Amino acid sequence: MTAVPFLELAAQHAELAGELADAYRRVLASGRFILGAELEQFETEFAAYCGARHCVGVSNGLDALHLILRAAGIGPGDEVLVPSNTFVATWLAVSYAGAVPVPVEPDPATYNITAAGTLAALSPRTRGIIAVHLYGQTADMNSLQQVAAAHGLLLIEDAAQAHGARLHGQRAGSLGEAAAFSFYPGKNLGALGDGGAVVTSNGQLADRVRRLRNYGSDRKYHHEVAGFNARLDELQAAFLRAKLPRLEAWNARRREVAARYAESLASTGLGLPQAAPGCDPAWHLFVVRCVERDRLQAELGARGVETQVHYPVPPHRSGAYRERFAQVSLPLAERLASEVLSLPMGPAVSDAQIARVAQAAQDGLSAMRHAPAGAISRSG
Ligand SMILES: *Cc1c(COP(=O)(O)O)cnc(C)c1O
Repeated sequence: MTAVPFLELAAQHAELAGELADAYRRVLASGRFILGAELEQFETEFAAYCGARHCVGVSNGLDALHLILRAAGIGPGDEVLVPSNTFVATWLAVSYAGAVPVPVEPDPATYNITAAGTLAALSPRTRGIIAVHLYGQTADMNSLQQVAAAHGLLLIEDAAQAHGARLHGQRAGSLGEAAAFSFYPGKNLGALGDGGAVVTSNGQLADRVRRLRNYGSDRKYHHEVAGFNARLDELQAAFLRAKLPRLEAWNARRREVAARYAESLASTGLGLPQAAPGCDPAWHLFVVRCVERDRLQAELGARGVETQVHYPVPPHRSGAYRERFAQVSLPLAERLASEVLSLPMGPAVSDAQIARVAQAAQDGLSAMRHAPAGAISRSG
């Protein structure tokens, strides 16, 4: 029995049932399903939310990253710095553009890349940096921006986990030259299917992304560049418009859940998230660290607490990259992949569920101390 599911979207959708049904009826009545008024209005609303001038809705977060790189002219022969410990999409976007992802190990406390790390990875071919706001915590964008400015690099935010996160009061999406968002259903702002957006205050970049997402076309059947079909459809835009007004309240509840977890897990010895000064994370995930992660996950599961691992295989050991990186070791990324565990997180997590998770963690850890892994494998 799962007493505490990892992610519970049903409550959110029940709360919004009326608005979502209205959105569906509006789109049906309009007869317009691609590149219409819902998308335009969502783009205006989401740009304003992020504190940026432009938003271009696209098909998903991977395409958002890919189209930013293409729009900036980054391609074959170029290198782009990426975190060693991110979701594989960050790397794949660079590969899709024809450029080479160059991994940078993260800060061991925040799990985000730093200026010092990027400086050490620069080469004459470096053209850009993709800073991932991992788990919803903003990267140290001010010092990364200094590196970017000093070396003529494009600083891109991978904000797929950071809708509404702030750094010194400024929202993710307005912290670099351009930002990529994902509206995958499980993200802080999720569609009822795939979706994504590019957010930027650079009008020229926004225009180029707008063209690239629609077959390279500004006018119907006039194709100026070899573009893609990477549009956000009207129905998803309408659903996202119904959800956006709730995002602040949902993130506020995530913040409370995180604070309660931090308090109730403080004495367990688990590695807990550490927010950098000035950062107000969006708490997409609440990730703890434990050397015996797999055992802890099993103990929690046996007590009805569902958890996930973000991510068990670092990109350089994934099928897409393992041959090229066979001789490369990225010790921190590899260690994090074996130690991180994401606890149930979302606006629907109740205080009772938090208490249950904390109790399960305490009991599970105590069971692990009494029957160490070695003892179990010998008897089993
Ligand atoms: C979810 C995610 C993406 C990709 O988004 P999709 O919409 O699934 O393509 C990219 N980067 C990070 C960090 C993500 O978490």
